[in-house]
Amino acid sequence: MVYIITGGPATGKGTRSDILSKALNIPHISTGDILREVALTDEDIKERLAKGELISDDIITKLLEERLSKDDCKNGFVLDGYPRTISQIYLLNEVLKKLGKKVDRVIELVVPDELAFKRILERKKCIQCGRAYGIDFPPVVEDICDDCGGKLEIRTDDTKETLKKRIDTYKKNSKEILEYYRNKGLLKTVDASSHSERIVEEATIDDYNL
Ligand code: AMP
Repeated sequence: MVYIITGGPATGKGTRSDILSKALNIPHISTGDILREVALTDEDIKERLAKGELISDDIITKLLEERLSKDDCKNGFVLDGYPRTISQIYLLNEVLKKLGKKVDRVIELVVPDELAFKRILERKKCIQCGRAYGIDFPPVVEDICDDCGGKLEIRTDDTKETLKKRIDTYKKNSKEILEYYRNKGLLKTVDASSHSERIVEEATIDDYNL
């Protein structure tokens, strides 16, 4: 099964994708994580990410296709952060077709903007394994990852200025994307203000055409 977890910045896409991926034993593929890895050696991408700008469809789709072609994705995956533009919907359809797959379910996470701001300015990520921590789920030891002992850092694009831009970009681009999946009967919208563990039930219960 191919699940897409979508939503604006700090709606909890990463956290919920992780929970779902562990519960279903399929990988969590985050285009943001892929790009942050590339940014370690690519100054142009690093700058764009820091400014909160989208990376071109060509670049991100190529990276995504490479990742989805790996063996661990053969039984499905949880896709987080893609598609983010209308053209990415069709690019994704092409990539999936080549892999003999299709989008099965799309879950949109919604939180009030004020909560997104609060979460984003207090969240940190492990620089080693990528696990995210926040106000609702802090690490046991401050600034140290519970899973791998890596150092926790604030993301360079998690500032008030870029957040406003990222929320606006999401609102502008998401309408048509959501409409596309709604028309196909694949979309479910969930309140992501709390109870992240509910994502497993929300994603797997078959009431998508409601
Ligand atoms: P995220 O971790 O999903 O919040 O993504 C972090 C940043 O990576 C975004 O603000 C964009 O700059 C970039 N990014 C992630 N996914 C995409 C995508 N599908 N298309 C273009 N840029 C992306």
